[in-house]
Amino acid sequence: NLSDRLGKIFEGLRGRGALNEKDVAAALREVRRALIEADVSLEVVRGFVEQVRERAVGHEVTRSVTPGQQVVKIVHDELVAVLGEEAVPISLNAAAPVGILMVGLQGSGKTTTTAKIAKRLKEKQNKKVLLASLDTRRPAAMEQLKVLGEQVGVSTLQIVTTETPVQIARRAQREGKLGGYDVVIFDTAGRTHIDEELMAETAEIKAEVNPHEVLLVADSLTGQDAVNLARSFDQRVDVTGIVLTRVDGDGRGGAALSMRAATGKPIKLIGVGEKMDALEDFHPGRVADRILGMGDIVSLVEKARENVSAEDAQKMAKKLKKGAFDLEDLRTQLLQMKKMGGMGGLMNLMPGMGQMKKAMAGANIDEKVFDRQVAIINSMTKKERANPDLLNASRRKRIAAGSGLQVSDVNKLMKQHRQMADMMKKVSKGGMGSLAGMFGG
Ligand code: GDP
Ligand code: MG
Repeated sequence: NLSDRLGKIFEGLRGRGALNEKDVAAALREVRRALIEADVSLEVVRGFVEQVRERAVGHEVTRSVTPGQQVVKIVHDELVAVLGEEAVPISLNAAAPVGILMVGLQGSGKTTTTAKIAKRLKEKQNKKVLLASLDTRRPAAMEQLKVLGEQVGVSTLQIVTTETPVQIARRAQREGKLGGYDVVIFDTAGRTHIDEELMAETAEIKAEVNPHEVLLVADSLTGQDAVNLARSFDQRVDVTGIVLTRVDGDGRGGAALSMRAATGKPIKLIGVGEKMDALEDFHPGRVADRILGMGDIVSLVEKARENVSAEDAQKMAKKLKKGAFDLEDLRTQLLQMKKMGGMGGLMNLMPGMGQMKKAMAGANIDEKVFDRQVAIINSMTKKERANPDLLNASRRKRIAAGSGLQVSDVNKLMKQHRQMADMMKKVSKGGMGSLAGMFGG
């Protein structure tokens, strides 16, 4: 997993102000490997890594996260930037009937996606849709679209087996106008690979139909061919959007990055199954996560940046190094944890923090009792907070009364503080670097 690998590279680097060229170069080798594993085309990987290098070198490291996490965040943000805007809808902003032309290789999912889009337009936007199959190559293709049309309750153009694709397209347009349809979707025949015949046929149909949208349907498992595929179609028929299918499979989203980088055209929808409602909007953030395989590092980095000020974290790191952790620190810590959604929430975001979470639960640090614990510490004097040994029976009684709680509550807090201080000492002496990193150590 990329975040673990970057963590290793940056071990021992914490506390430095900015990322330097050498560290970034090492990290980028890992980023490169992760992208290639995710099946992003080599050409796109090269360009992408250069972009990240430029952004990363000299980048300030937020005190509360590790440099490794910071680089993952930069990579993630850059991925999202390249993948493009969130959920670009299919445009129907043209005179009715609006034409949508589906193009792509055979088996990419054009016919299935045609019916899925029709269902979506009908149900979500209340549109009257006509489907037309221009696939004269496979005998069963027109029948397949008809069956799917019936399934989603959308009309299909009457099948006439003697016409050419262009003749069918012309008939579909006429029927679209006469029948008062809002949208006509043209499903085309593909080929097993890109060839001149396919491109010429697709271009001819496009010239006839003059569609408002040209959607390139591509299998998300398309590996190194993705760039060539997307570019070929885009050059010949000027694609307006991409639909990625089989995103439910084990492809890691590399094709999305390749095709988007190669054409600059938005990925409009993703197919996530064979069923007619298995069509979703495209969310670049999710695909970026999938490519990086990195859990929730990014949200952790964001939360840390929002909530923990650099100075707080630095102060805490110093104290941890000395092994000193007094009640004032516990109070600061409790308030920070509460801000960050509780210890449970925070730990859940940290890779490999299960063990620490259990230890915390053992010490009974429960987010629900944060407020009471803070109230107890608030009732102590400065001296008492700095030196817990001062807290004899009568002081504990006073503090309990001051915070509206029992002496037993105060005792419990003291015990917890001792356990935590011990744990902090262990953490700061090495081993569990992640927690120390969280405090900027
Ligand atoms: P076409 O040749 O481009 O028209 O491809 P089809 O629409 O006929 O689809 C080929 C196969 O892929 C069919 O068995 C579909 O059910 C399947 N398929 C299409 N889209 C998806 C998808 O998003 N997920 C999965 N798992 N299967 C899909
Ligand atoms: Mg088909």
